[in-house]
Amino acid sequence: MSEEKNSGCSGNCSSCSSSCSSRDPKSLIEPTGEYNNIKHVVGVMSGKGGVGKSMTTSMLAVLMNRMGYKVGILDADITGPSIPKTFGINSRAMQNELGILPAETKTGIKIMSINLLLQEKDSPVVWRGPVIAGAVKQFWHDVVWGDLDFLFIDCPPGTGDVPLTVFQSIPLDCTVIVTSPQDLVSLIVKKAYNMAKMMNIEVLGMVENMSYVVCPDCKKEFHIFGQGSEGIAEELGIPLLAKMPIDTSLAQMVDNGAFEHFDCTYLDNAAKEIEKLMHK
Ligand code: ADP
Repeated sequence: MSEEKNSGCSGNCSSCSSSCSSRDPKSLIEPTGEYNNIKHVVGVMSGKGGVGKSMTTSMLAVLMNRMGYKVGILDADITGPSIPKTFGINSRAMQNELGILPAETKTGIKIMSINLLLQEKDSPVVWRGPVIAGAVKQFWHDVVWGDLDFLFIDCPPGTGDVPLTVFQSIPLDCTVIVTSPQDLVSLIVKKAYNMAKMMNIEVLGMVENMSYVVCPDCKKEFHIFGQGSEGIAEELGIPLLAKMPIDTSLAQMVDNGAFEHFDCTYLDNAAKEIEKLMHK
């Protein structure tokens, strides 16, 4: 992938798209808007879609908000945005002379998502990669986030154009990788991990979602997708921060837009790890 230094090298990576071996992966980082003061940015990523990345993002945001921090969620999953629905937000984003104003959930979490800008919520976003990537960048610098302790980025799944833009243009403090305990997903998780490493972004740890299901009658745990991601976390040298079961009450809360009211402790440990960023 990497090339030798371009013969016409100006020494300024920020205005060049060559992928030379000497390129600093963070040289394309963009500043956020002048009205924003964002202390920590945490990316939530996954190797593939459908493993519960958005649910994990939402739960971590709610937990940090419950701890008293000022929290926002940038929904960078442009082609599969689910954050507004999770929080029951049906309004459209407003704009004033300072920029685009994020929506606010009932408990004060700030949200920006493409679904707040579309006329019809069910219109597909049929855009090419660079246009989608441009929207993500706009969410980073044109949205008036104000003062935030934590901005969570619900990254697009995979390792394509748009996740690359997120990693290159937004100064992430760290990422959390969400996976499910299937061999296939675990394989793809390594790609996500390697991508973060290539971009010099710390991987805080892994959240294993859909780890098991508890029988409502006998309370026994069934590991329907197989046994655990400990092996892969160990292999990659990162902590397994949490194991979250398939919990139908969570899915219902998402569907009813009432996710802020969840009452479970699955990701408490992960939230405590994220809180440590405040003391770094
Ligand atoms: P992704 O962001 O990885 O595509 P989502 O977070 O949107 O995945 O989750 C996909 C679907 O699975 C959603 O309908 C969500 O409500 C549901 N879901 C995710 N995790 C769980 C869980 N632990 N228990 C029950 N339903 C879940």
